[in-house]
Amino acid sequence: MTEPEAVDRWAGGAAYVDGAFCPIVEAKISVLDMGLTRSDCTYDVVSVWDGRFFRLDAHLDRFLNSVEQLRLDIGRSRDDLEALLHECVSRAGLRNAYVSMTCTRGRPAPGSRDLRTCSNTFYCFAVPYVWVSSEEQQAVGASMWISNIPRIPPESVDPSVKNYHWLDMDMAQLDAYDHDAQLVVLRDMGGAITEGPGYNVFAFVDGRWVTPVRGTLQGVTRRTLIELCAESGHPAEQGRLTAEDLLRADEVLACTTAGGVMPVAQINGAPVGQGGVGARTADLRSRYWQRHVDPAWSTPVRYTRS
Ligand code: PLP
Repeated sequence: MTEPEAVDRWAGGAAYVDGAFCPIVEAKISVLDMGLTRSDCTYDVVSVWDGRFFRLDAHLDRFLNSVEQLRLDIGRSRDDLEALLHECVSRAGLRNAYVSMTCTRGRPAPGSRDLRTCSNTFYCFAVPYVWVSSEEQQAVGASMWISNIPRIPPESVDPSVKNYHWLDMDMAQLDAYDHDAQLVVLRDMGGAITEGPGYNVFAFVDGRWVTPVRGTLQGVTRRTLIELCAESGHPAEQGRLTAEDLLRADEVLACTTAGGVMPVAQINGAPVGQGGVGARTADLRSRYWQRHVDPAWSTPVRYTRS
């Protein structure tokens, strides 16, 4: 194989599955895996920006805590897990990456449905950075739809354990597309805003930032923004937001590892505040990206291949 072909094989990303590294296009798991058949799994996603992981420790803490909550076992130490993530990014040669780690219940013994017979599956991978809201959308602000599909109650599936129970969110997203909106947010059974498919929400309303405290993943980007809001002189309250609050807010943003701070310019077809990207959102967005080089919050990738 010539050198350019060898590079191309890994260019789309690299995975570690079943105890071995492979190019992402070759990564596969069993059709019998309960992660697939039951969504019985947890996962986490950390970003790499300009060759540095962003808040890797926070993501590892959350993942390992979720694994424990679901009574799963990744079968390796935290240090080994971290080394595998570095190696996936290094093999793919990515400077900006979306790096995912998953632990599933795995396969039960043949002929059995006894969960206790499952041997858990662990895999991770690095692919080019993913933008939930494209950079072009972020420049002008995205459109958001408030869905009428309620979010799965947190008493049924704990949203603080990052999971693949996304049918409510996927159906809400399809509904949003039908209403010409790019992003969607779901409410709980009591009408409180929760989150969207892969992101938390903040609104600047009545002179302060508010982000939902209940029924959401405790996003690492959410946590980062709470710290940056305080730094910017507008501390954020972790509380309750309704659809009416979003519709009368001066500014609204969604936030996630896959895209950072995503300004929202329209909700249900109406402009948010003056429309466009609000000044406080723009300020948070620039603080967020500046912090990607801060050694307190970022870790250089150990590239072992040139
Ligand atoms: N909410 C849900 C349901 C998510 O899946 C995610 C991330 O994928 C988030 C919020 C944002 O979390 P983070 O900022 O840790 O990426």
